[in-house]
Amino acid sequence: MSDALQDLRLETLAVITGRPEHQVDAPLNQPPVFASTYVGSHTPENGDLGYGRYQNATWQALERAIGALEGGWALCYSSGMAAADAILGLLPRGSTVVLPTNCYLGVSSLVDERAAVLDWTVERVSVADTAAVLAAAKNADLVWIESPTNPTIDVADLPSLGDAVPHSAILVVDSTFATPLLQRPLTNGATIVLHSATKFMSGHSDAVLGAIVVDPVRDDLYGRLLATRKLRGAVPGVMESYLVLRGLRTLALRLERAQANAAVLAKRLTVHPHVLRVRYPGLRADPGHDVANRTMAGFGSLIAIELADAPTAEAFIDRLQLWVHTTSLGGVESTLERRRRWSTELPTVPEGLIRMSVGIEHVEDLWRDLEEGLRSA
Ligand SMILES: *Cc1c(COP(=O)(O)O)cnc(C)c1O
Repeated sequence: MSDALQDLRLETLAVITGRPEHQVDAPLNQPPVFASTYVGSHTPENGDLGYGRYQNATWQALERAIGALEGGWALCYSSGMAAADAILGLLPRGSTVVLPTNCYLGVSSLVDERAAVLDWTVERVSVADTAAVLAAAKNADLVWIESPTNPTIDVADLPSLGDAVPHSAILVVDSTFATPLLQRPLTNGATIVLHSATKFMSGHSDAVLGAIVVDPVRDDLYGRLLATRKLRGAVPGVMESYLVLRGLRTLALRLERAQANAAVLAKRLTVHPHVLRVRYPGLRADPGHDVANRTMAGFGSLIAIELADAPTAEAFIDRLQLWVHTTSLGGVESTLERRRRWSTELPTVPEGLIRMSVGIEHVEDLWRDLEEGLRSA
């Protein structure tokens, strides 16, 4: 390898990894390969691919790219939840699981469902409370961390957790909000990183896909997960894999702009009289600021604000013209949502909390819309 291709920065890797070898007249990009099956041989072991549920060149390209960004072995799934389900599938009956008090609702519900059937003990702790996580982790088989958390934007001290969580426990980090550009949990001692690639990696609100990346020393876990994916079939769509790989190429640019916008908006929202509370780790006064400053390469583009109550929050959202009221996040477009509109959302999330996913539009247009909405709410 020439020197120019060593120690590449993540922004460069996001552009160059997961491409076919450079050959005259070969496509520069990995195209979507739509194939349910491949031409076989008498000894199936001779072919790498076999069948469309086993392997696909477009998945492999995406997995090479995500694996390179996180520093491990990636596997892609039909959704972030399918990826979460695959990880939880590693745990036998009677396991002990540590889960964040506030985390992605789907994951919390899935753990509860499995816990009821498989007699798991589930202990919920705040990811921002390192001592509490470590105390709970002592007898755990799996420690599930999400950071920053959805929807409350709490930040975990990943290096401290990675150092001190016992090696007997699988340490999972859902890093969806951070992307590999802001934190790389495997380098901090995590066993598995999870991404809902539906969000920032895709970046254009047009694909559902999940990814996990396994610590390269845990080839046992990688092998089990790969075998289970083949058998259970929670495989990603080919078109979705292509779209997410395409989205990754601009991740660094999109994130840089969205993050810069979020920093400006968070600061202005903090001094707005109608806003009771702003959670954004980039704010000096935020409880997650010091940890994020020390452990992350940026503060991300998710903000949580609290208005007085549900009716006030809803009136504000209804008056917005540019911001789109929708679930999901991490797209180029600015979106927001009062999370408690879902009856299943955790009761620890305040009624007036609005999660904002800042996009790449001009920040002054975004601010004007928010300001007008707040004035009339
Ligand atoms: C959206 C999300 C998920 C679930 O991913 P899907 O792709 O929607 O299945 C998991 N974790 C976090 C933090 C999320 O935001």
